[in-house]
Amino acid sequence: MKSQPSEPGPDPVSRDPAAPSAGTESPPRPLSALAEPVRGRLAVAVGLQTVAALAGVMPFIAVSQIAGRLTPGGSSADGDALWPLVVLACAAGLLALVCGTAAGALAHVADNDLQLTLRRRLARHIGRLPLGRLTDRGTGEVKQAVQDDVSALHTLFAHTLLDVVAVVTAPVLALAYLFTVDWRLALVGVVPLLLGVFLFSRAMAGAAAQMTEFGAALGRISGAAVEFAAGIAVFKSFGRGRKAHERFVDATEGFADFFSRWVRTTLVSSTAAVLVVAPAMVLLLLSVVGAVFVTQDWMTGAALVPFLLLGPAVAAPMGVVGPRIQQIRAGQAAAERITELLHTPTLPEPATPALPDGHHVSMRGVSFSYDGQTDVLSDIDLDLEPGTVTALVGPSGSGKSTLASLLPRFHDVTAGTVTLGGADLRDIPATELYRRVGFVLQDVRLLRASVTDNIRLGRPDATDEEVERCARAARIHDRVKALPDGYATELGTAVTLSGGEAQRLSIARALLADAPVLVLDEATAYADPHSEALIQDALSALAAGRTLLVIAHRLSTIRSADRIVVLEDGRVTEQGRHDDLLAAQGRYATLWQAQLTAQPDRTDGVPRRLPAPTAADRAADEIREGSAR
Ligand code: ADP
Repeated sequence: MKSQPSEPGPDPVSRDPAAPSAGTESPPRPLSALAEPVRGRLAVAVGLQTVAALAGVMPFIAVSQIAGRLTPGGSSADGDALWPLVVLACAAGLLALVCGTAAGALAHVADNDLQLTLRRRLARHIGRLPLGRLTDRGTGEVKQAVQDDVSALHTLFAHTLLDVVAVVTAPVLALAYLFTVDWRLALVGVVPLLLGVFLFSRAMAGAAAQMTEFGAALGRISGAAVEFAAGIAVFKSFGRGRKAHERFVDATEGFADFFSRWVRTTLVSSTAAVLVVAPAMVLLLLSVVGAVFVTQDWMTGAALVPFLLLGPAVAAPMGVVGPRIQQIRAGQAAAERITELLHTPTLPEPATPALPDGHHVSMRGVSFSYDGQTDVLSDIDLDLEPGTVTALVGPSGSGKSTLASLLPRFHDVTAGTVTLGGADLRDIPATELYRRVGFVLQDVRLLRASVTDNIRLGRPDATDEEVERCARAARIHDRVKALPDGYATELGTAVTLSGGEAQRLSIARALLADAPVLVLDEATAYADPHSEALIQDALSALAAGRTLLVIAHRLSTIRSADRIVVLEDGRVTEQGRHDDLLAAQGRYATLWQAQLTAQPDRTDGVPRRLPAPTAADRAADEIREGSAR
């Protein structure tokens, strides 16, 4: 009976936000736009809940009527005449139960479908985002949208919406009835309501701004938690366990500070509001004033009964309005974040696809800006000849990572062109590009899967022999063999690899993928000299015969690169071979001297270099022969 969630055709949210929407002045608000696929069912649920809330008041009205007729001076003491009221009360109670249950069930079914639809849309959209966009946003933020924000919408649509309908509808009917009984005492009953509204609005004043900060603070915790969980193995393997949770602790402390400030500023007025509308207080007020009315003969004792039964229900819902308003605001903020993520431009697929002819990489007049204002790369001309190693060096922040990230199209250039085999990267279909351009990043992500599956990500149809050959060349085979289940060992559960081991595993993955062009972010720190030597061997195997662009953090490892490119402030200031650049006594020579002074133990050229020493070359040849077959 449950219908499949409809995947909306033309997506109301993912349309170009700049495009004018036909017939309407302003674009739909994020919340209502997101709820569009289930709007009909939510409307029916609201209707059912309204009926339930109104029917829920009827038994009280019927009991008041019965009380009125039974008391001396009442209109009827005839028991038979009371039966219709009893039946009415029972029928109304039953109706309230049935409609309330149906409303809840319908809202949950609608919400369930909405969650599924939204998560599918988010997953589809995130899959099409430029990789650079994802690393910018951070996995925590993406997790917040896909998990927390979608859950906030669940609270809103499946619970808050119906609660609000109930707390607004029932008091309106109760109050209307009380006015028909005695308008003066009804007015007295309104006083706590008005006072409650006043105090609550004071407590809620400025809450909109606070909610934004609330969401941001939660986002920071979420981001730090993901970072903490993802990075703990690496941090620990480098003996920096404390560093791993510093950001998380900072984020939680920041949140606690913010929250206690928020609570302090609203505590008095919100507590007063809760007290004023509490049923006991309202009952006390109506009893005292009602007693005065009765003793003064302004009303009968029987007329007081409905006030005592229904009066507390008029103001009491105010007590739950505060949290409900917060849930609505949280839902709106969640909808805005989801919408923003869905509006993040996807990597445009080429209208007229082009395929590269060869693997020569050429950058011409390349500039790039993250914010559209400041260029972090300016007017770069660079050629990467097939089969050569090009190293990017320069001070931190000079643009090395940004320049390298343009090659696997983490970002598109702001000006100029990057071509591979003569084709503009923007014209090469994404799958074709990733077959040709691989990357090994410092921050290695391993899946919670077997070692084999982790390596096989590089080429899903690779045989076990090919996986093992690449693992050997990447100098990780012996370590894998020592694991409890060898290549079948699940990573991330019983076994956690060190940072260096994870990097070698990712090198095996890249070897298997066998992309002819490779971007490599050389790790900044290795656990120990043995690990460093193994990684250098693995990298050498990777370098052999490929076009390699290395982000070099230590100059000693790239002395034999075919070309060293010095970047400063986003511009190429020098390029050439190591010896020529040293002889030129320019910026590279200064950097080299500085690093020699900082790391005297690396001065004599002992560190292994790219390209490969012969053993690794042989291993790489072996793989090539294997894959050439
Ligand atoms: P390097 O790799 O040489 O250390 P980067 O390419 O990382 O340099 O950074 C170059 C400049 O771009 C720096 O000023 C840095 O702050 C800025 N930058 C890097 N990544 C981002 C980003 N995702 N968003 C905005 N600015 C960035």
